[in-house]
Amino acid sequence: MIQRPRRSGFVPYSRPSIAEDEIDAVVCCLRSGWITSGPQVRRFEEMMIERLGCAHAVAVSSATAGLHLLMHALGIGPGDEVIVPSLTWPSTATGVELLGGHAVLADIDPHTLQLDPADVARRLTPATRAIVPVHFAGAACDLDAIRALAAGAGVRVVEDAAHALGTSYRGRQIGSDSFAAVFSFHPTKNMTTAEGGMIVCQDAEFASRLKLLRSQGVSRDAWTRHATAQSPRYELIEPGYKYNLSDIHAALGVVQLGKLDGFNAERRRLAARYNERLAPIAHIAPIAVPADVSTHAWHLYVVRLDLDQLALDRDGVMEALSRENIGTGLHFTALHEHAYFRARRGRGEAPLPHAAAASEAIVSLPLYPDLTDQDQDDVVAAIGDVLARSHRYLEEKTLCAF
Ligand SMILES: *Cc1c(COP(=O)(O)O)cnc(C)c1O
Repeated sequence: MIQRPRRSGFVPYSRPSIAEDEIDAVVCCLRSGWITSGPQVRRFEEMMIERLGCAHAVAVSSATAGLHLLMHALGIGPGDEVIVPSLTWPSTATGVELLGGHAVLADIDPHTLQLDPADVARRLTPATRAIVPVHFAGAACDLDAIRALAAGAGVRVVEDAAHALGTSYRGRQIGSDSFAAVFSFHPTKNMTTAEGGMIVCQDAEFASRLKLLRSQGVSRDAWTRHATAQSPRYELIEPGYKYNLSDIHAALGVVQLGKLDGFNAERRRLAARYNERLAPIAHIAPIAVPADVSTHAWHLYVVRLDLDQLALDRDGVMEALSRENIGTGLHFTALHEHAYFRARRGRGEAPLPHAAAASEAIVSLPLYPDLTDQDQDDVVAAIGDVLARSHRYLEEKTLCAF
């Protein structure tokens, strides 16, 4: 057997694309004399509004902050329930819990791993106040069905769009017509501000309240006070959070947003290339793409392992790939498997079989604009070897047992 040489440098599962123009924009902001929320944040928000065609954009310090802020603005508190998918990052749910509400975990479609509207319907109660779907991996969830359920129950839909900048659903961009959606600019996402997020919404009053609450609940933020040279007086309207985005971060965002379509095109090309090259490899398959997605943002390339056919479990496969210098990610460990929710749930809540099964069998492969074709070929070759070895080992073990 010919040994495939181990790849020399490590291929991370994610890597931000930062070039000289991003660096220049940040340096320019640093030299400008104004580094906290100000003209760069305004410009970044205006670019988002123009891009999505939404009415309002509110830049925040992270998507986690944005989700917390939205739940606060909706008045979520003790006795309130908010339905979220179990297969997500904790912050889809933690804002609700921090406010004393109850995040009700719902199951996913076993093929696409998107929130399952039928399971959401089963978990609606008179205490339900909102539904927070996630556009998992950059594909849109079944929004029409979720919106219809929410309208029927008189509850809000807040979209966790952390993966979905550039995603469109039935020809419309995610965020263009949402009651509220939140994007993330964490370095692993499709574009970055190092840390940051953006809420988009349609209602002017709601947007003003969000802007007040992100700036400590104090009327007139520092930039407005500075730029308009009006009376230096300010007023606390209601207790708020310190969730504003700085101009240093926004300056990075302005440049990155201008490159987003190029970034996403490269992600799409690489995803198509993975589809082709992984097809002949046994015991692994990409998750299904929902039928209603017009544009997939390809935030993640998630594959499912056929664990019945492998001696290794998923963590073992990730470790073996790491030894081959291939990084992988896990999106996600289902929330109901985490210590907090294991203790919190119970009370006769229905099981989450599809989220539980996916949570054990999925892996995210390296996917980002700067991944080269050679990197990707190395990833595919390493996967082929690891899975073939693991399958052979299982077969030999089974034979010995007889
Ligand atoms: C990354 C992520 C978040 C949190 O984003 P931050 O900007 O890091 O707070 C929320 N939800 C999902 C689904 C995510 O993947």
